[in-house]
Amino acid sequence: MTDPLFLRDAYQREFSAVITDSRGGAIALDRTCFYPTGGGQPHDTGTLAGRPVTAVSKEGDLIWHTLDGDGPSALSVGAEVVGVIDWARRHSLMRTHTALHVLCGVIWNAYRVPVTGGNMEPLAARMDFEFDPLPEGFGPRVESLVNAELAADRPIVVSFLPRADAVLDADLIRTKVSLVPDSVAEIRVVDIVGLDKQADGGTHVRSTNEVGRIKVVKTESKGKGNKRIRIEVVDG
Ligand SMILES: [Zn+2]
Repeated sequence: MTDPLFLRDAYQREFSAVITDSRGGAIALDRTCFYPTGGGQPHDTGTLAGRPVTAVSKEGDLIWHTLDGDGPSALSVGAEVVGVIDWARRHSLMRTHTALHVLCGVIWNAYRVPVTGGNMEPLAARMDFEFDPLPEGFGPRVESLVNAELAADRPIVVSFLPRADAVLDADLIRTKVSLVPDSVAEIRVVDIVGLDKQADGGTHVRSTNEVGRIKVVKTESKGKGNKRIRIEVVDG
């Protein structure tokens, strides 16, 4: 299996690893800092053995890295390689992912409405909520509530809980811990202390202040009981 180093330390940018499997243009490693596309967060880019990484995906217990271009042909199973992630992109995604969790917490506290879906790019994202219709003045109010929480500099704590404990936690029940597959024995919890707690596999910053600020750029209806909010993340 591939040890996903990013789950324990989102700030690690470089690592060495051993190639455990390979196939046309892609390699699997025994460990990696490269985040694979999933959970609404896009994959990292960067280099492995100096070659550009253009895609990262998780298949079963393995994380596969697609390599671009011609490079050293010595990328065979058993070889050791050094990986470096594109930190500007990753850190932007960390800020964006944390901003979305703050948005979830704020909307729950203000309206008691759950999230139904979402997606992100570096510094831009959308999230869907179960509103019908959207409340008057929704966009500006949410922007100001989110920015107040970001400025409050709340710490973000990542922990690992046995499934039996996680399913009893009221906050985790609200954020649908039940959707985590039964096969997962240990649940990774991302806690924006005092605001939002979710079972989550993404990479986050250490405190809300590191996100900066958000702008609500659009709100739109995607049908009955489904309203979309688009945000951008900007420097504080
Ligand atoms: Zn998340």
